[in-house]
Amino acid sequence: MGPVAWLREKRREKLAALHPIDDEAWDWAVRHHRVLDGLSPGELAKLRSMVAAFLAEKKFVETRGAVADADARLSIAVQACLPLLELGLRWYDDWETVILVPKEFNYTRRDVDSAGIVTEWDDELAGQVLELGPVVLSLRDVDASGWGDGFNVVIHEFAHKLDERDGELDGCPPLHRGVSASAWRKAFRAAWTDFSERAKKPAPWGKRKRGKGALPLDSYAAESPDEFFAVACEYFFERPFRLRDAYPEVYAVMKDFFRQDPAERLSRAGLTGRA
Ligand SMILES: [Zn+2]
Repeated sequence: MGPVAWLREKRREKLAALHPIDDEAWDWAVRHHRVLDGLSPGELAKLRSMVAAFLAEKKFVETRGAVADADARLSIAVQACLPLLELGLRWYDDWETVILVPKEFNYTRRDVDSAGIVTEWDDELAGQVLELGPVVLSLRDVDASGWGDGFNVVIHEFAHKLDERDGELDGCPPLHRGVSASAWRKAFRAAWTDFSERAKKPAPWGKRKRGKGALPLDSYAAESPDEFFAVACEYFFERPFRLRDAYPEVYAVMKDFFRQDPAERLSRAGLTGRA
């Protein structure tokens, strides 16, 4: 860590000490978010301090009638900080605003093909990242996140933030020295190819369903390599056994990147039933 990063870290520790999370709120956050299951007391204490600094540093902007109470903000902060537990909050240094909307929102996507034909279509989004800018989150989807079922809009959108840190939203965040770049590329390319092929095939009963016999991850992962990475992050923290079973090489490089092993910590806590 260089001197500037070190000073920032010190400033953060001070911020966290100045704006601590009170015990009652923290107990609620730990009980309410199954995605935190298996964290040791030491890891939870570290997360609590990061969450306090996150809440003091980032701006929350409520739009379209959204009202985010203290619990909602805490819930966002807890899930935003979990992936950075062993990486540090400096990974979020390049942006500062979280825009909140009440529910899923329509977004017009635009594509221009090689012949210059413009196609526009409406997509319903639970969250979005604005390039090098704010993160947009639907509060209804924040509420549906963190339950250990594989859906997590907070982890999903913040994964895009990590991905775009090197200037490119391509499913590969800037890798630190603990991760083999070639192993990363190989694992994600193979998994993405496999998944997008499987997603094209009609599932039994004519439609895709989560669960037994269906795709191992949410079908949204088939959209593009960057969406595959964001969805893989949701599963890495929410349903790690499922990701590890489906794509063990992807799980292994993500474990090196996040310096966390959620499957191992759930096993240690006797929570192997989270398949
Ligand atoms: Zn996405």
